[in-house]
This record gives sequence, C-alpha cells and structure tokens, in this order.
Amino acid sequence: MAPPPVPVQLLREQVDADYPRTIHELKALVAVPGVAWAEFDPADLARSAGLVAALARSAGFTHVDVLAAEGPDGAPGAPAVVARRLAKPGWPTVLLYAHHDVQPPGDPALWTSAPFAPEERGGRLWGRGAADDKSGVVTHLAAFRCLIEVLGDDCGLGITLFIEGEEESGSVTLDRFLAEHAALLASDVIIVADSGVWKIGVPALTTSLRGLVDGTIELRALEHGLHSGTYGGPVLDAVTLLAKLLATLHDETGAVAVEGLVAADGADRDIDEETFRTDAAVPPGVRLAGTGTITSRLWTKPALAIIGLDAPAVATASNTLVPAATAKFSLRIAPGDRPENAMDAIRRHVALHAPGGAEVTVRPGRASRPFAADLSSPAVGDALWAMEESWGVAPVRAGVGGSIPLVSALARHFPAAQILITGAEDPDSRAHGEDESVHLGELKRSILAEALLLAKLNAR
Ligand SMILES: [Zn+2]
Repeated sequence: MAPPPVPVQLLREQVDADYPRTIHELKALVAVPGVAWAEFDPADLARSAGLVAALARSAGFTHVDVLAAEGPDGAPGAPAVVARRLAKPGWPTVLLYAHHDVQPPGDPALWTSAPFAPEERGGRLWGRGAADDKSGVVTHLAAFRCLIEVLGDDCGLGITLFIEGEEESGSVTLDRFLAEHAALLASDVIIVADSGVWKIGVPALTTSLRGLVDGTIELRALEHGLHSGTYGGPVLDAVTLLAKLLATLHDETGAVAVEGLVAADGADRDIDEETFRTDAAVPPGVRLAGTGTITSRLWTKPALAIIGLDAPAVATASNTLVPAATAKFSLRIAPGDRPENAMDAIRRHVALHAPGGAEVTVRPGRASRPFAADLSSPAVGDALWAMEESWGVAPVRAGVGGSIPLVSALARHFPAAQILITGAEDPDSRAHGEDESVHLGELKRSILAEALLLAKLNAR
C-alpha cells in the first residue's frame, strides 16, 4: 500500500489551533528555574524534569521516565526525561532532543522583566530558557501532539523524546547516560532542537559544526637561563624562538598554514564584511584574516589561535635569556577533518619549523569531532522541504563555527542515525544573556516545520 501523503493544510491548522496551549506550557516551563550548576538548588532541577515528564504524558507519550546516570564522582547526574511512543513493526524511530536545564540568570537587575516570570511583549516571550532550550522542549511536544491528532492511526513512527537536564553545565554524565540507555534511545533519525533560524523569517538547518583540538607547544632552547649581556648575540632566548615558530602557523593573509588540515570553500550563504566587523567589534584599521567567503572562514576552514603563553611576566622580567617557553593553542577543525589527523598535522608542522634546532614538544589536550550532515540523505531533504513549506522561504544550510559536544556524542553512540540540527532561536534571542526571549512567530513556524518533517518521515 502506498504511504499516505503529508496532510500539509491539516497540520498547519492543527498547529494554529494548538498554539495557545504551547505558549501556556512554555510559560509554565520558564517559571521553573532549573540550573544544573553546583551553586543552585537541585530541587528546582527535579521540579523542572517533573514538569517536562507531566507535559510529555499529557501530550500522549505512553512510556515516560525521569532518569539519571551516575557522574564521575559517584553522585547522580541531573534528571533527564525519556518519553516514548513505540514504532509499529517496520516503521522507523525518531529521537527528539532538547534540554530543560538553563543558564544561571545573571544579575536580575539587568532584566526588563524577572528572569523566571515569563512575560509576552512585542511578539516575543521573555524569560530565562524561553529560547535556550525550552523553546526546543515545546517544539517537540507540540509537533508530536499535532502529528498524532492529525494522522491518528496512520502514524506508525516510533517517537522518543529525550530532554536532557545538564546541557548548560557540560553534560557531565551524558556519555554514560547514552551508553546505559542505548536501547531506549536507539533511533534512525535524531532531531536536535537547540540551534536557531538564520534570521526572523528565514529558516536554517544547521548542517555543519567545527571540531576542536587544543594542546601546548613547549620550546626549550637552553639548559638554564643565561646573562643576556654575556651570552646574548650568538644565543637566542626561548620566547623569541617560540614567537618565530608561532609566526609560521599562519600565512601572510592570516589563514592557517599548517599542512594536512581539511579546509574547504563551500558555505552556501555569506555574511557581509561590514555586518561581521560590527558584530565582532573589530576596530576599523584591523584587517580580517584569511581568504574566501567569511562563512567559509567560520564554518568550513580551520582556525588556529594562541590562547595562553607561559613566559616570565613583564613585572618580574630580568636581563636573562629565557631557557624555555610554552604556548597553548586552540585549533577549530573543519567538517570532514579528524582530531587525530589535526594533531598529527600540528606535530609535523612544529617539528619541521622548530627554529634554530630548539627542542619542541607538543602535548595534546582536549579533542572533539566536527560534524557534517549528509546532505544527500533523505532526512536532510525532508527537513529542508518541511522548513520551506512552513516559512515559505528556502532554508539556509548553515554552519556553526563552534562545536556542540552533544552532537559528537550522539554521532559516536548512534553512528547510523541521521542527525538534524534545528531550533527556534534567532539572532536577537540572547541565549545565556540577560533579557533572553523567543520570537513567537518563529516558534510557531518551527513547530509546523517539525510536524511536517515527522509526517514526511512517516510517509516514507
Ligand atoms: Zn542550549
């Protein structure tokens, strides 16, 4: 039997009719402060998880659990909610991810209305977590409700809601949680609703994230410090030699010059230089580094920064040739690259360019993988279709210059699943800042897009 077509108009009407309930639920969620930091009351976080579980039950999920994994110190991690609707035999399962914990509110005096007293003003809902990421929680709940309401028994999809409770505090127990509950969370498609639109009225699917490796480069030039008058001239100090080495990491345009790193042009949208300079507050005389579009420099090429330096402090400096100095580097790696490859490339570069025969040691630090959606996969095509139906505008396939550790963790635990990164935040949402808010028009369009996407996946 041919699958039923997607009832676009019915879903649109259902999302409209359901929307007051969505706003009501979002306000209830924002009113519960749940911060997963040690300084905050874990009882609030537990109430937050309890409310998410109650909303999941009332949305129609049949198997609802509040679960936690053990942390590295033996204490339980923050409570996460897993709610399921089981797939009919032969149908795929979709995992819907968001997080219910929020950033600390900061200084309440800097908020126009109190952070945990949700308020509607100017077409937006204001409050801590209204965007990041309680808008993601209600997007999943509403899309699910509307899908089931419209499709009824024609819906064979398995749908698993996974609402994490410690994303803003570094997801300390996430790896263990994913391992312990792998069977519960197993899915064919994962929708991560913790990102945003391109701008008001223009949707975006986040299709790539850069990864990160960091570490230190230590340069040792001498056995011990030497009098700079007695020995200076024939002998160079370690700080000067390290500076010469660090200067080889970029070419004359400022692009990363380390051979063997993946770099590509290929972002399908650019940001104009003026806007970028204003956003980053780059002073007028300072030239931007690198070549190609600004979005390719941010999304599909590596970026290398020196973020720390161990050398004598100016206040206590003496006329001594410094024997050793250390720099800490932070390297954002492009989609398609691997942390091991990037670290090898740094090692080779440093060995090749070690100035004056100095001894150079690279010590690796953290590593996280980049992410690139498979643009040829049916799920990506379905997501782009659903966004265009909902907004009436072609979506931007956006990259993100930073990393979302959650996405690498999901990709590692569920390598066969197609990951889609969406979200209702917009450039004015001020996630993590004071006066956080979500645009109510964008939120509704996000819900409709997700309901359409689920219906499309159901019709495959
Ligand atoms: Zn978030």
